[in-house]
Amino acid sequence: MRTLMSAVDLMKVLVSFDTTSRNSNLELIGFIQNYLANFNVESELVHDETGQKANLYATLGPPDRPGIMLSGHTDVVPVDGQVWSTNPFEVVEKDKKLYGRGTCDMKGFVSIVLAHVPEFLNRGLKTPIHLAFSYDEEIGCIGVQRLIAAINNKKVKPKLCIVGEPTEMKVIIAHKGKTSFHCRVKGSEAHSSLAPEAVNAVEFAAELISHIKLMARRIKREGPFDPLFDIPHTTIHTGTIRGGTVLNIVPKECDFEFEIRHLPEESSDVYMNEIRDFINQKLEPEMKSLSAEAGFEFSIKSSMPGLHTDPGDSVVSFAKSLTGMNDHAKVSFGTEAGPFQQTAGIPTVVCGPGSIVQAHKPDEFIALEQIAKCSTFMDRLAESACIETQ
Ligand SMILES: [Zn+2]
Repeated sequence: MRTLMSAVDLMKVLVSFDTTSRNSNLELIGFIQNYLANFNVESELVHDETGQKANLYATLGPPDRPGIMLSGHTDVVPVDGQVWSTNPFEVVEKDKKLYGRGTCDMKGFVSIVLAHVPEFLNRGLKTPIHLAFSYDEEIGCIGVQRLIAAINNKKVKPKLCIVGEPTEMKVIIAHKGKTSFHCRVKGSEAHSSLAPEAVNAVEFAAELISHIKLMARRIKREGPFDPLFDIPHTTIHTGTIRGGTVLNIVPKECDFEFEIRHLPEESSDVYMNEIRDFINQKLEPEMKSLSAEAGFEFSIKSSMPGLHTDPGDSVVSFAKSLTGMNDHAKVSFGTEAGPFQQTAGIPTVVCGPGSIVQAHKPDEFIALEQIAKCSTFMDRLAESACIETQ
């Protein structure tokens, strides 16, 4: 079987696999592996520890030299609790838009890349094109870590990477990094009539959360700033809190979660040090005077480096030459571009079809016009990769 499939045909197949991050993606990966095998392209699979999920890596063209990596994730966010007008796992066309979970984020891009495989191969590539499709991006860029480890073990590493997350085909040179934390506040229990003798974990959590909020206000007021981001500074926010059992018991435990989304040239460490100083100086002395075991414990839930590509880097001008647009931008959402650039050391930009506004929402869609733009980008890429000097 070596049928030519259009990007839309491929998208219909990819969307039909429910690859919500909690599920296995192996059926989808198997489909891509077979599809590539029909063109005599071998795929390498890099599984997770359970064997239920896999990254796929493949090289089109000469394998002995660094090439251009096209990267996308195969997982999607859940549709749970969302009201959809159509079946989210079936591509439905309406008003020049294709609806379905993942059409925009980002099975659309993966489909367009796959649809161009025959063209890439027929061109006689001088510069190879690497395909890198990951799992578990939506739950903190987890799968790509194993893929990067596999790439780092190769004799030949990609010379540049384009991550096709939805940017409406604009070239994105930077995005923020993110670290999310779980905090457990340990207090000591007592009847509430004896409150002053116990350590109220909920109240100490509240004091720390207010301090975090004060820090967030200061950063908003004083920076540091980078005006190319829509939110031009680092942000800190507390998202969940849980503590206490009944009103007449002083609560001994409280858990909350917060995240630091930092400008790519910053690190979350500076802010965590500030948080720890506040605890050491203002909160724990009082807590420990009442109970030696009382205090704060932090664990990192997930951590993702930012993307920070120099506007003068050749990957930026290369991507611009393929889009035909001369400007670049920065975005606040995280992608696998950060890990590719900062962990793997591969010059990377983000550039893909569709708008992030439609991602993760009910009635997610990609406009046909965006598919056309991305296809033109791939045609130019094919042209450029078959020239010896590229
Ligand atoms: Zn995505």
